[in-house]
Amino acid sequence: MSFNIKAGVTRRGAILLGENFTVDGHSRRPVRVVTHIHSDHTIGLDKSVRESMLIAGTTYTIELLEILGYRVHEAKTLPLEYWKPVELVGEKLTLIPSNHIVGSCQVMVEGPDYRVGYTGDFKMPDTPPMTDLDVLVIDATYGSPRLQRRWSDWDAMAALISLIEDSIKKGPVTIYAYHGKIQEIMAELRVRGVKEPFIADRKTIKIARVAEKFYNVNLDPLKHFAEHDEGEPVIIFKHTNNNKEISSKGIHIVLTGWELRAPLVKITENLYNIGFSDHATFKEIIDYVKESKPKKVIVDSTRGKDTRITAKYIEKILGITATNETIPTSE
Ligand SMILES: [Zn+2]
Repeated sequence: MSFNIKAGVTRRGAILLGENFTVDGHSRRPVRVVTHIHSDHTIGLDKSVRESMLIAGTTYTIELLEILGYRVHEAKTLPLEYWKPVELVGEKLTLIPSNHIVGSCQVMVEGPDYRVGYTGDFKMPDTPPMTDLDVLVIDATYGSPRLQRRWSDWDAMAALISLIEDSIKKGPVTIYAYHGKIQEIMAELRVRGVKEPFIADRKTIKIARVAEKFYNVNLDPLKHFAEHDEGEPVIIFKHTNNNKEISSKGIHIVLTGWELRAPLVKITENLYNIGFSDHATFKEIIDYVKESKPKKVIVDSTRGKDTRITAKYIEKILGITATNETIPTSE
């Protein structure tokens, strides 16, 4: 068999698996799989909705896509549970959990004489490595050791909680993050006993209601901006794209994966960065490959940084054939 035919990444970031599947980017194939709802993984989805036979994802992701405004005819959706394979046009598709955001998954495709997989975005622990693969396509957001954080998410969470405790009596705390991260942090804060109301817009609240099922945590009190009384101590959640709206009221915290200096960095008198990430560190990427032991690795260069270094490292240190090159395609 030819590896290139069974798995590859196109220049526009579509991950092609087996003969029938295109993942997280558009290509002229019967089935489009969506690993999760982040915008760099829903590229060309409107086109796939029109041209593909089926749009597949976890039951959570399918529900979230609708909240985000994608209109997929019900007959075209293929909501799947984790670990429950489905046979489609002579190949078997399985969605495997990944620790990233609500509903996210890894994708495995098996044919008569091949087995290939794509990690999607992931962090460790709690992302089970796929094994016995002919080709592993891996995300390497932090593709080299120079991008390595020197602390864990636990440190970042501790910094966030103590900052909230110190500030909440003096005024509102506003937290900026991406969809998915917002809801994960809501769940983490409730689990750790934070009881103040969460305030957000309608879309963020709808996503949070899906996340409640995913994390099995009650996020109430969770209210819309219009429902909250001025002066009550609250934690406001806003999408990262709105972090330019910062006012003088209360404190503002931006959660970012690109703060590599320290878990907590004070930017101005009432603005802080906290260095969380939803992605594996360089070391965790290498650990994943070590455990997975595929015959070949393709590092996704359309989303990651320093991916040539990742591929070289995998070849030299692990002795596994690896590339970060995209495939030429007319699709
Ligand atoms: Zn993502």
